[in-house]
Amino acid sequence: MLKEKTFLEVFELSFSYGAVSVLEGLSFAIEKGEIVGLAGPSGSGKSTLLRLIAGLERPRGGSIFLDGETVAGESVFVPPEWRGVGMVFQDYGLFPHMTVRKNIEFGLRRMGRDQRAARVEEMLALARMEDLMSRYPYELSGGQQQRVALMRALAPRPKLLLLDEPFSSLDAHLRESVCREVQVILKEAEITCLFVSHDRRDIDVVCSRTM
Ligand code: ADP
Ligand code: MG
Repeated sequence: MLKEKTFLEVFELSFSYGAVSVLEGLSFAIEKGEIVGLAGPSGSGKSTLLRLIAGLERPRGGSIFLDGETVAGESVFVPPEWRGVGMVFQDYGLFPHMTVRKNIEFGLRRMGRDQRAARVEEMLALARMEDLMSRYPYELSGGQQQRVALMRALAPRPKLLLLDEPFSSLDAHLRESVCREVQVILKEAEITCLFVSHDRRDIDVVCSRTM
């Protein structure tokens, strides 16, 4: 049975690509406001799990419960745009032809103009990137690109944020400081977050709990 505070519950989740099984009977739960890390080796299905939670894939079996409703299960499938889940992809996935400001604005198309501008300002301030808002992704360091990707995901106020190996393409010397910056941003944003990585060190810096 679900505990009262359960915010995300993955229950006996299974998934296959064709005949190849990737996840078998995976279960875990996260409470609201937790920043939880899940470590696993490359190829173990971490990205697939995040895609299932975001609604980019349908499970073969099991269910996903998010913020009071079943979003995936037998005969239930809530499409990604209705889940309120934000995701930062491993390669950031920034739009190369858009400035920092335009990248962050991207998820806010449904807002009015003034509201949208205010939210972008807030995000730029949170990322301490006000001076860089007119730059294009190729004019930014890896750590800065990463913060833009994070702000783009946070701007629409998702109820859940998924981070897929957000530090794996950063140089070793940048990694620890960027990890700490991200930890501060996530705390300030007061968001529930699931973070997957093959590197337990990143998870230990950022997360309040690991699985
Ligand atoms: P991780 O993120 O932990 O490295 P993935 O979820 O990306 O693992 O992949 C899990 C397994 O599924 C791997 O063996 C991978 O090769 C396979 N896989 C991933 N995406 C696809 C796909 N689109 N089609 C077929 N197999 C895939
Ligand atoms: Mg992956």
